[in-house]
Amino acid sequence: MPDENNSGIMLYAQLTHENYIHTVFFELLEKAHELSQKLGGVEISAVCFASPDTIEGFKGAFQNMGVNKVYYFEDKRLEKYSTQYYSKLFTELVKEVKPEILLIGATNQGRDLAPRISSSLHTGLTADCIELDINEKGQLAATRPTFGGELMATILCKNYPQMATVRPNVFKVHSVDYHADTEFIRKDTSILDGLKNDVEIIEFKKTIENEINNLDNADIVVAGGMGLKNEKGFELLQKFADKIGGSVAATRPAVENGLAPHSIQIGQTGKTVRPKVYIACGISGAIQHTVGMDKAEHIIAINNDPDAPIFGIADTGIVGDFFEIVPKYLELQH
Ligand SMILES: Cc1cc2nc3c(=O)[nH]c(=O)nc-3n(C[C@H](O)[C@H](O)[C@H](O)COP(=O)(O)OP(=O)(O)OC[C@H]3O[C@@H](n4cnc5c(N)ncnc54)[C@H](O)[C@@H]3O)c2cc1C
Repeated sequence: MPDENNSGIMLYAQLTHENYIHTVFFELLEKAHELSQKLGGVEISAVCFASPDTIEGFKGAFQNMGVNKVYYFEDKRLEKYSTQYYSKLFTELVKEVKPEILLIGATNQGRDLAPRISSSLHTGLTADCIELDINEKGQLAATRPTFGGELMATILCKNYPQMATVRPNVFKVHSVDYHADTEFIRKDTSILDGLKNDVEIIEFKKTIENEINNLDNADIVVAGGMGLKNEKGFELLQKFADKIGGSVAATRPAVENGLAPHSIQIGQTGKTVRPKVYIACGISGAIQHTVGMDKAEHIIAINNDPDAPIFGIADTGIVGDFFEIVPKYLELQH
């Protein structure tokens, strides 16, 4: 049953290393509006950690987004992510504001932060959700894959706030203007004074794969599975992707067999993508893979088995041998 002491939906507005608000925040915000409506229009708030005098730069990003309150902490000690500092301030804020729902993006940072906060608050956390809803009792119904992805479980949390993390690209952002005034509330950080920071992050480095293969925002993703068999298959896949301006991705067995790095693995234990076009080459279409790509606008599958499950979700299916079809296509493009 809804707790009368807790109200509203709180979201984490994570800043990227380049000092932008992470896109996953806007995806969660879209969902938060839907949940808020179902709860009778409850308040939506955001939490932001920034280095001194930087909040002015972010205020514009909240314009017309329908965020009622932005709680922010500005402190030199918050310039780089610190598990202890961030989780301490976040936890104390949640105790004070008492939201009924707390949503955090399942980024590397969010995955570190969320369990810390939930254990400090003695509440439950449903991680890597693929759907969020409000049930007939007004509780957060958080759905995520379970039993190795074979089943979808909808999980209810008994304590408050009801916490969930959602990976980037799971929810879609619609460009709707929400005309709500946003109040910016600066919060005190002096609580950090007596706190020891055990881990100091010195520098963040982008991996080369991320730099050259920006999968998260790619319009076209060209993914390869075990049907590509070996390095030669993945070289051909890369040529194909280069030709059509796509980013390369892979299935888990392809990664486990050393054909691709984990950073480009799609699926339950990899990334979620939502490109305009997803071309699945030599991929059977196991649910653990499709959960990471089935929201693509158009799915094209190339597979030599007409009964491959991937054809069940493909908009365009090409039954045939990848090693015949793709070279032929590349030849025609010369
Ligand atoms: C807990 C758990 C988590 C998992 N997480 C993930 C995950 O995040 N991502 C993921 O991808 N998997 C994941 N898996 C593995 C998943 O269950 C499947 O095993 C995997 O997705 C299958 O990979 P695949 O399609 O590359 O290989 P296969 O299932 O071996 O399929 C290869 C396909 O290629 C086709 N093919 C063969 N030769 C050719 C050719 N010459 N031309 C065209 N087609 C050809 C075949 O017909 C077949 O359909 C997970 C499994 C578990 C248990």
